[in-house]
Amino acid sequence: MNLVPFLRRGLFAALLCASTALPAWSQTAAAPAPATAASGQPAFQIRPVDEAWRAALPREAQAATQAWMDRLPADVVARSNSYFEGGYWLQLWNLLLGLAISGLLLWGRPSTAVRDWAQRRFKHMALSDAVYGAFFALVGWALALPLTIYQGFVREHAYGMATQHFGAWFGEQLTQLAVSLGVTAVLVALLYAAIRRAGERWWLWGTAVVMGLMCVGLTLGPLYIDPLFNTYKPVEEGPIKRAVLAMAQANGVPADNVYVFDASRQTTRVSANVSGLFGSAAVRLNDNLLRRSSEPEIRTVMAHEIGHYALNHIPKMLLQLGVLIAAGFMFSAWAMRRLLARFGTRWRVTGVGDVGTLPLLAAVFSAYLFVVTPVTNTLIRTQEVEADLWGLNLAREPMGEAEVLLKLVEYRKADPGPIEEFLFFDHPSTRTRIFNAMRWREQMLSGGAAAP
Ligand SMILES: [Zn+2]
Repeated sequence: MNLVPFLRRGLFAALLCASTALPAWSQTAAAPAPATAASGQPAFQIRPVDEAWRAALPREAQAATQAWMDRLPADVVARSNSYFEGGYWLQLWNLLLGLAISGLLLWGRPSTAVRDWAQRRFKHMALSDAVYGAFFALVGWALALPLTIYQGFVREHAYGMATQHFGAWFGEQLTQLAVSLGVTAVLVALLYAAIRRAGERWWLWGTAVVMGLMCVGLTLGPLYIDPLFNTYKPVEEGPIKRAVLAMAQANGVPADNVYVFDASRQTTRVSANVSGLFGSAAVRLNDNLLRRSSEPEIRTVMAHEIGHYALNHIPKMLLQLGVLIAAGFMFSAWAMRRLLARFGTRWRVTGVGDVGTLPLLAAVFSAYLFVVTPVTNTLIRTQEVEADLWGLNLAREPMGEAEVLLKLVEYRKADPGPIEEFLFFDHPSTRTRIFNAMRWREQMLSGGAAAP
């Protein structure tokens, strides 16, 4: 699924300067590179097992789960924990940096100077708002660049997951910037038109604007944005393509081809998605998945993704996000009223309808998003459990599922405590997911149903 990467790349990332406020939703799994990335770190390695190991696996779900978990070497677990827990702090640093940037813009002169210049230069309010929106996105991008470089390049290389040299990586950052300038300009123009038109109830109309843009982005993103970063080609004819296409079509996914994209130019992670809205669909998997996983593993991953589509997870998530965004805008309206009453004169802004308050809206709204992170995580995690079970029912490969899940430990902590999982995990932990697969195996085997 690719709603959140879209949000990340465009709408909110630009608006909030806090791209980690929203969790990565689409990455289904991550797998190791064989002898991998430019960092020279030892490759992520889990010893393969043979048929005898699989045959001797206990039937009881807890014991079987433990047997899978015992295959994780201590150094792999330690590295994965350190990578994932570092991410908790990065969420906080991103928020604080975003707040600092907003503060700088509100208290400094340049922000209102740009607003005034744009309003003199362009007759139409929408146009001057759009120009200010692009300015805001550009300043946010530039000031956050050191953290972005650390988080997106240095750190990914240190953990052996990035495959790009700096020039190529930075080129993609510039492409993303161009997209986000355009998206933010449109968003800000529409949002402030709605705010001025709707008065006190702007939070409602603001939500409608954001939802509308999300639908446009979900429809156009796979067609026009994704190809800016990767090349999509039909998967070669063969058993894998036939199996994936059969699963998709059997479940009403309107797709007639399966596409592979060259994610290995950016990362060693494995991922896949089924994207599309309003009757369109594209079944896509990345080349890491295709190259580094067995056929049962690929089928189970794709069955999970098809599950997201068949269960209408995108429309449902849009509605849930709509409620969250509406609540966030309501809170923002309340908080901004108070802050503007106190500081409005010093910030040289007139009221919520003044586009010069955009940094304030971004600050208040990103603080809200930060606080509700466990809620968004839980909404997404709930869908992930559904898709896992749905995928097991379709692919009937609990062993392949568990095997892929072990690989995923590369970038997601394997065995967190329950509170930690509730707060920080947008996908269930490896232990939870393997347990679900092993429970499926135990019950389906002993229930007398046709065993896989
Ligand atoms: Zn999923």
